[in-house]
Amino acid sequence: MTSNYTDIIVGCGSAGAALTLRLSGDPTRRLLVIEAGPDLVGRQVPDTIRYGREMSFADHDWDFRAEAVDGRRVRFPRGKLTGGSSAVGATIGLRGMPRDYDEWAALGNEGWAWADVLPYFRKLERDLDFSDEWHGSDGPVPIRRFADEELSPLQSSFTAACIDRGFPDVKDHNNPTATGVGSIPSTRLDAQHRFTTAIGYLAPARQRANVTVVADSFARRLILEHGRTVGVEMERAGGTETVRADRVIVAAGSVATPLLLMRSGIGPRAELARLGIDVVVDLPGVGANLIDHPRTGAFMVADASVWDRSMPFLQTILRTTSTGSTELNDMQYYMINYFDLRYFPELQMLSGAPVIGGVMVCGQRPKSRGRLTLTSADPAERPLIDLNFLSDERDLSTLREGVRLAWDLLNSDQLAPHMQRPLIVHDAMIENDEILDVYLRSSVDSAYHPVGTARMGPADDQNAVVDSRGAVYGVDGLYVCDASIMPNIPSANTNLTSIMIGEKMSDHFLGM
Ligand SMILES: Cc1cc2nc3c(=O)[nH]c(=O)nc-3n(C[C@H](O)[C@H](O)[C@H](O)COP(=O)(O)OP(=O)(O)OC[C@H]3O[C@@H](n4cnc5c(N)ncnc54)[C@H](O)[C@@H]3O)c2cc1C
Repeated sequence: MTSNYTDIIVGCGSAGAALTLRLSGDPTRRLLVIEAGPDLVGRQVPDTIRYGREMSFADHDWDFRAEAVDGRRVRFPRGKLTGGSSAVGATIGLRGMPRDYDEWAALGNEGWAWADVLPYFRKLERDLDFSDEWHGSDGPVPIRRFADEELSPLQSSFTAACIDRGFPDVKDHNNPTATGVGSIPSTRLDAQHRFTTAIGYLAPARQRANVTVVADSFARRLILEHGRTVGVEMERAGGTETVRADRVIVAAGSVATPLLLMRSGIGPRAELARLGIDVVVDLPGVGANLIDHPRTGAFMVADASVWDRSMPFLQTILRTTSTGSTELNDMQYYMINYFDLRYFPELQMLSGAPVIGGVMVCGQRPKSRGRLTLTSADPAERPLIDLNFLSDERDLSTLREGVRLAWDLLNSDQLAPHMQRPLIVHDAMIENDEILDVYLRSSVDSAYHPVGTARMGPADDQNAVVDSRGAVYGVDGLYVCDASIMPNIPSANTNLTSIMIGEKMSDHFLGM
């Protein structure tokens, strides 16, 4: 492998693929993209990735586990293929609220306020339903919404139950003033097929002579010489290779990015020293500040007549604000058409059913913070991922209210007729805080939106890992560009925000 690259991009997921397309637009650059998973095209793409009806948990996953609460371990999926987690996700295409990004800027990250990032949300999308000041019309990411006649009976009933309770009817959840219930903006090529960044960004970039993609290649560590990052050591085809470049941009996602930094000697000194890793830069924020949306709900076994597996498992969403909160839309509620428990044997045992439905609740502005820890210098060893959910009392009370509303909706005139039996939750539990808390602790899971493990912040922020241009503190030639740099979690699913980061940082690199 030659080493005459200007840039190495490690990881070709949501942010990495966007970066690849935009940076390669400059013909003077020579890019090497290193992706640990396969680069599947055309007929090689399995149906689990091709179709967006359900999330994909088995094919092309890193097989991580995380601790949710009190050491309870849960699956923690992350996509392992070109397109990254955008290729395995639920196709929800939502943006955060303006105040989420204004908060990033207020924390000292110049250029990341809502007014700064909106042009990139517009640039990345091709909204097929709305054309106004908030939307883009010619970006790589198609956004479409389900029409009323495409909704399953459960989804129509959920929408009617929410409206009955006074929640506004929302046509466009990506309008920043919207709050209420309506069809989910969805990243789909058409009603069936999942959009991935491998399709929208990598495919056109791959045609360019200045882009080399090496798939099935795992970046083991960064090569640092005299305070500068000069390359990457990777495992490829059963051997180890070294590649060199002027600049290395790590876009391996919120789990793998901090792990790669730590294996390379960039991270909390004591932790690295304990594992026998030579410390190059002592950065305590690497792996700290792990934030994810906690998810629970009120679930049921539905009447078999309403379970239609040809439908997407989610179609509508209620975005609303919890009691006493000053943060608009700090809660999400989804009607689940069906959820296959094939990969969740404990839940199957608890529910006594292979497929369940229900109203899912996701807290959008959690206060609890977790941590990601390297357990060995050996890259083959799994990290310790501690989500530390519900460690802040405010998260517990928000989810209590959430499950109560979910239960109320499930028992509404509109939804109750579809329910064969509820799962675990009952009226007495709903009325009793103490019992409800036991339920929350044993049911809360990840919404698969980890962020913050290499957070962006000013130089005087002790836990900042990168500056507002993605440059890693204390070492030259090294950048991070993915979900791990988010200083706080947006009030939305994180795919569009991750792509926006790739789009925006490309302009920084191109000097625009
Ligand atoms: C199951 C699931 C469902 C989701 N559903 C939604 C949804 O519906 N809507 C939404 O908005 N968000 C969703 N998300 C979250 C969203 O997909 C992520 O926030 C987003 O994709 C993160 O982008 P990223 O670029 O940071 O990382 P990723 O997209 O995960 O990309 C990281 C890439 O780096 C590669 N990599 C990692 N380590 C190495 C290494 N050492 N060497 C080489 N390559 C490496 C990985 O294989 C991967 O391709 C979902 C996530 C999951 C897992």
